[in-house]
Amino acid sequence: MIQIYHALKVDKDICYGCTHCMNVCPTDAVRISDGKALILKKRCIDCGECLKACPVDAIYVEQDDLDNIFEYQCRIALVPAVFTGQFPTYVSEEEIFSMMKELGFTHVFQAEFMVDVINELMDEQMKINNEKPLISTFCPSVMRLIQVRFPALIDHIASVKPPVDASAAFYRKMLQNQGVPDCQIGIFYVTPCAAKIAAIKGWSEDQGAVINGVINMRYLYNKLYAKIKNNKDRDRELPILPHLSSKAIQWSLTRGEADNMKGRCLAVDEIHNVIEFLERLENDEIPTVDYLELRACDQGCAGGVLLHGNRFMTVDRMKRRAYQLESVAGDVDWKEYAEIIEDRNLFVSKIDPLPTISLDQDFQEALKKMERIRNLMCYLPGIDCGACGSPGCQALAEDIVQKKANLSNCVFLQRMMEKNKKLSSEHAIRIIERTWGRDRLDKDCKKIGAKNEGM
Ligand code: SF4
Ligand code: SF4
Repeated sequence: MIQIYHALKVDKDICYGCTHCMNVCPTDAVRISDGKALILKKRCIDCGECLKACPVDAIYVEQDDLDNIFEYQCRIALVPAVFTGQFPTYVSEEEIFSMMKELGFTHVFQAEFMVDVINELMDEQMKINNEKPLISTFCPSVMRLIQVRFPALIDHIASVKPPVDASAAFYRKMLQNQGVPDCQIGIFYVTPCAAKIAAIKGWSEDQGAVINGVINMRYLYNKLYAKIKNNKDRDRELPILPHLSSKAIQWSLTRGEADNMKGRCLAVDEIHNVIEFLERLENDEIPTVDYLELRACDQGCAGGVLLHGNRFMTVDRMKRRAYQLESVAGDVDWKEYAEIIEDRNLFVSKIDPLPTISLDQDFQEALKKMERIRNLMCYLPGIDCGACGSPGCQALAEDIVQKKANLSNCVFLQRMMEKNKKLSSEHAIRIIERTWGRDRLDKDCKKIGAKNEGM
């Protein structure tokens, strides 16, 4: 059985079942049960929309503790370009990275280092690719979306790994070549999103896992920024760092990839736009496109849920930085770098479909259940009000067929059943309590928006 890791969790002590998360989830992965949000693992793609929507921060990202780095002698921070893009322009990369070393990292490396290698490999793959468009592997949330909702498009996914995985493999190999034993190398990725945590934790060693942990970008930003503000020694001389190419700096932003690939390349960002586009692609409504760059977040990784800064300001700073470095691009023979790491660390292994609802192992039974869902939809009112604790009528019908809910969960059908004496009022109340919690309808003037809120 495939084990899937998820980084998004619900703190049940804080959650008060307001349904904001359920209403925004693009894959119908949230239910309300006993007055609390419940994330269905099979459906979740770790896009973080629920985390953004929660008014009380009840949804959080499970992350590694910073102290975990001290389990290794060689402690590497793998930092994406969006991290430095959040700091005000008066804070240099050199200052940020030297402060990170004061936190305990022995090396600070850039996650987009292998972008130019990836770019070349993708170009080569495009030439021999029969399935058009080729879809980028960059965004793990989009990869999971294709697995769970668009399995027919899996063959379009490129086989070249995203830059962070390739860069991590490169640095590990480089340190091994310098004589550092593998067990002493700890690589920690500073993540802008929950999806990267899920992807990294989901890799197994035989799939070429090379990253040992993940650090929440917002947590690290807050820690470093406080340190930088209190730094009395700001004018001291700092080490000169090897810079990324201008292309690599912008790679994670919207059009960062598409502008550098050959042929007709489209870029689509924000998860709902991506879903709409993939639906059209699946229905053959998209004219020939060679390459598709898809990002779950608006503005690409600058819109990641774990970023502290405003995404538009972050993009602006990154573009300025890239513009200043334009002349640096193209000076390096990237093939030389590609040769340092093994082939398996540059290519993803086979991607399997992970359908959200597998109605039955038996195909005939699955068809019958599908028919039952359609029948149930004839009775459900089609209002998608969410009062049953499922995000809509279709989702409730699926839950019923999978024996996770009953028709009487629908508040409208409950009233009809009560009227026809098929359900007692006491039973109806018990159903409501099972979904929304026992004290849901008690008077509470301290709840959000009520007259004594916050008192
Ligand atoms: S959005 Fe509402 S239902 Fe969802 S986790 Fe937050 S408090 Fe709970
Ligand atoms: S666009 Fe970037 S930050 Fe957003 S989910 Fe994808 S990889 Fe993560």
